[in-house]
Amino acid sequence: MVGACPADYAASVDPLIERARAGDAAALEELLQSVAPAVHRFGLRMCKSDSDADDVLQDTLLSIATHLPQYEGRSSLSSWVFALTRSACARRRRGQKNRPHGDIDQLPQLHDAQPSPEQQASDQELAGALNTALSALSDEYREVLQLRDIEGLSATEAAAALAISVDALKSRLHRARTALRNTLKPVLEPVTVNPSPDCPDVLSLWSRKLEDDLSPQDCSQMEQHVQSCQSCGAACNALKQALWACQQSATPTVDPAIQARVKAALRTLSQYEPK
Ligand SMILES: [Zn+2]
Repeated sequence: MVGACPADYAASVDPLIERARAGDAAALEELLQSVAPAVHRFGLRMCKSDSDADDVLQDTLLSIATHLPQYEGRSSLSSWVFALTRSACARRRRGQKNRPHGDIDQLPQLHDAQPSPEQQASDQELAGALNTALSALSDEYREVLQLRDIEGLSATEAAAALAISVDALKSRLHRARTALRNTLKPVLEPVTVNPSPDCPDVLSLWSRKLEDDLSPQDCSQMEQHVQSCQSCGAACNALKQALWACQQSATPTVDPAIQARVKAALRTLSQYEPK
């Protein structure tokens, strides 16, 4: 659901959202289940502790359920859901401003979606390096990278979620990627063996490609080079794998305890009548 939602929701109304808005309890549950993993990942990234992320998940699911009747579909579902997640996260951080983070470097557990143990170990290592690098960035940079590069929101969707212009989003993203790249350099460099003097700056080209900022000619030149060059190919794959591993991290479904708490809270709402 998140990420796959069309930008122009008004033009193609998701029947699941319509049913949930009409008070169909099963549809609401399905909707909440579908957005929960991304909300949880965002909470883990921005709140930095498991228990805070669980609370943010619970708060956000409740927010979605209570505000769904007011959701008019002007922004994509992803933008709306992440805007609610950010609010829940900010409320939590304000409430705990003076409490030190005990487990700032805690990494989300990776799931064994990959069959090969070697692959898994390498993914985990890369994701760990990426997680550490992300933790060192400012909140502003971390959230823009999480939404755009890890959750895969479009520039327009991410800008809407953050309540900033698309231009502001792009310039913030550019600065964030540059900062991330400088931190990741020592990790990615051992992967890039024997780069030739003709090798382009693949990471910066890749970033421009993601923003549709690269001419089709430059783009195909880069792709050709990456395919034929061992060094650049390895660097690109390492980065893709790290992002993929980060995307796979965190629980794929809502923790039963949180689910039960959300359901109990929903039952007290008048518009929620289980069928
Ligand atoms: Zn190369």
